[in-house]
Amino acid sequence: MRIDIISAVPELLESPFRHSILKRAKERGLLEVYVHNLREYGLGKHKQIDDYQFGGGAGMVMMPEPLANAIEALTVQRRYDEIIYMTPDGTTLRQSLANRLSLMQNLLIIAGHYKGIDERIREEFVTLEISIGDYVLSGGELPAAVLVDAIGRLLPGVLNDETSALLDSFQDNLLAPPVYTRPAEFRGRKVPEVLLSGNFKAIDEWRLEQSLERTRTRRPDLFRRFEE
Ligand code: SAH
Repeated sequence: MRIDIISAVPELLESPFRHSILKRAKERGLLEVYVHNLREYGLGKHKQIDDYQFGGGAGMVMMPEPLANAIEALTVQRRYDEIIYMTPDGTTLRQSLANRLSLMQNLLIIAGHYKGIDERIREEFVTLEISIGDYVLSGGELPAAVLVDAIGRLLPGVLNDETSALLDSFQDNLLAPPVYTRPAEFRGRKVPEVLLSGNFKAIDEWRLEQSLERTRTRRPDLFRRFEE
């Protein structure tokens, strides 16, 4: 999979993909991430990318021309399955959406800043708008990194244990069960007996019970969906 990101602050995206699982995804040739500096498409001597908003009011808006030029410089080279704008008023990112996007070949992600991007760019180019939650961040870079991480770890061959992503929270609308490692007793707290039993059927049953109980008490909204 190839992911291109258009950003006014590409430095913010230098580190997230250089470590751990996403690094492995890149090393194995399963994921390529390219960050493009919007400034390079800025207008005039000062490479301007933002301007005051029509109608007045505080906060700058990202101008349409630099964004259109950046997007078109990429879309002439390849077809994108989705052109995604990270925005608080988009569809909330859920595991099901990450699963769906992990099956695609080419994604283009636009990170906004200030008050956001000129509405006409959204109308003209954007095919999918995604929010990472009901709070406002100062830029779309961290949301873009969240999205790339959620997608990247799902690519076949990225996680060493192929089944591991399937057992995470939200697959099946259930939260994951608690996990333990050595030592078997830590400050007087013992690991649940069943996990040490070697009885895999009993372990599976215990994990499912724990998942159900956690989901029921912590996320009744998810639990209702699971029951449907
Ligand atoms: N005025 C906008 C917020 C702009 S925040 C509004 O009220 O909806 C500046 C940029 O940060 C946005 O363009 C977007 O790219 C990014 N951003 C902020 N919060 C986000 C969130 N919850 N999900 C995705 N992107 C977000």
